[in-house]
Amino acid sequence: QKIQVAIDGPASAGKSTVAKLVAKNFGYIYCDTGAMYRSVTLKAIQNHLSLSDESTIVAMLKQTKISFTPGNPVQHVFVDDKEVTEDIRQPNITNSVSTIASLAGVRTELVNRQREIANQNSIVMDGRDIGTAVLPNAPVKIFLIASVSERAERRYKENIAKGIETPLAQLKKEIEVRDHKDSTRKVSPLTKAKDAIEVDTTSMTIEQVVNEITKIINQ
Ligand code: C5P
Repeated sequence: QKIQVAIDGPASAGKSTVAKLVAKNFGYIYCDTGAMYRSVTLKAIQNHLSLSDESTIVAMLKQTKISFTPGNPVQHVFVDDKEVTEDIRQPNITNSVSTIASLAGVRTELVNRQREIANQNSIVMDGRDIGTAVLPNAPVKIFLIASVSERAERRYKENIAKGIETPLAQLKKEIEVRDHKDSTRKVSPLTKAKDAIEVDTTSMTIEQVVNEITKIINQ
């Protein structure tokens, strides 16, 4: 029996950090679906495609291999066997990815790939639409939230660790813009599944969030 844990929520709510730890504790694989949308965005930009040209981008995606290998602290991501782990986290990709994610044809293709991965393994999958669209029958669904200020601060610290200093106010604005685009798009907008359990991580440590999710899975 394969176990599926769906973790959704807005940008920078801590999904990937806790999803990875929960997967490790249970011996499940971890799948970061945001990395797939980021990979498509990166390749489209590198090929100088218009990000709203759906048919061209979908045609490109169908010829694109996206793969993962486990890694610490982050999993490694490959596009057509070339490592893009760091490239897909650059601010220009972060700020363009919602445009790509709003293309219905891109979502259909990536959702199919995500279901294939989830059917083969017990998995913790994180994203925006895992509990609502990708794995609607997942027995465990978590919706992680945190205040915008807290999320901007987390992103600020992540950027500093990468040697990038972005003003906090700008990060806050960027998070709000991305949340707005992700929750107002026509296809599978970011919403909490009816049967998801909401966890507000604003004043929780990573360890506390992992413990909370572990309790939910073991129930
Ligand atoms: O989680 P992450 O911030 O890496 O996701 C990047 C973007 O990819 C999100 O802002 C959203 O536009 C898109 N995304 C999505 N559906 C998912 C995962 C990510 O639309 N399941």
